[in-house]
Amino acid sequence: PAHLEVKNLQVGYNGHTALADVTFTVPAGGLVAVVGPNGAGKSTLFKALVGLLPRRGGSVLIHRQPAGLTLYCVAYVPQREEVDWRFPVTVMDVVMMGRYGRIPWFRRPSKEDVQACQLGLDKMGIGHLARRSIGDLSGGQQQRVFLARALAQQPHILLLDEPFTGVDAATQEATLNLLEDLHHQGVTVIVSTHDLNMAATRFEQVLLLNRRVLAFGTPAEVFTPE
Ligand code: ADP
Ligand code: ADP
Repeated sequence: PAHLEVKNLQVGYNGHTALADVTFTVPAGGLVAVVGPNGAGKSTLFKALVGLLPRRGGSVLIHRQPAGLTLYCVAYVPQREEVDWRFPVTVMDVVMMGRYGRIPWFRRPSKEDVQACQLGLDKMGIGHLARRSIGDLSGGQQQRVFLARALAQQPHILLLDEPFTGVDAATQEATLNLLEDLHHQGVTVIVSTHDLNMAATRFEQVLLLNRRVLAFGTPAEVFTPE
């Protein structure tokens, strides 16, 4: 298990400050919902945590090591992934990228790699789609493949940017149960959502963000009026 420490994080786009002085610490095995209005900087926060956006200031530490140098595995599922596969790629190929980076076919996957990928697909309920071409799947099915890819990484920290948008209730419940299982296994799970009721009832901690941290604590602490 790994804990995440964000100190005075600043991120901007050109002249615009998207995150100013964001500080919070998530304990190892935490289960955190990130909430805030559109444009609050939720996606920006996730991207900065995994190094997809440069920091203008502050630090991100994973178990006291700088995020860029850590051996702990952080898996990130973006809100939207533009799929533009230039040649046919199977679902298994995509999930295998979680274990090998962008070009898995350069190496021969081990038995453990294949098992981890199949387990990730099974957990998302799409084990039967492993040999299908990713481009033939619906948007929702592709979203599940990206989650399976994150699971195949066997991450210490899992970051999901709005995984519930446009998802039916049954899938939402199944995904929440999966996140709770991971949390109980010690994985640190951080999820952005628009669903305040879900944040209040299904998460241990809530980060209320709007360019800066407006509140961070248990749902009772964050949502109970003074
Ligand atoms: P949220 O995920 O909470 O909706 P975002 O992190 O997407 O918020 O956006 C935070 C702010 O940064 C918004 O004002 C948004 O317009 C701006 N922003 C996001 N991405 C870019 C970008 N690529 N270029 C310029 N501004 C951006
Ligand atoms: P269609 O495109 O055929 O209308 P969707 O792409 O919306 O269907 O969803 C296909 C299946 O994938 C549905 O069973 C849905 O519940 C599921 N699904 C959609 N989005 C997600 C997601 N983000 N995570 C997991 N499952 C999802």
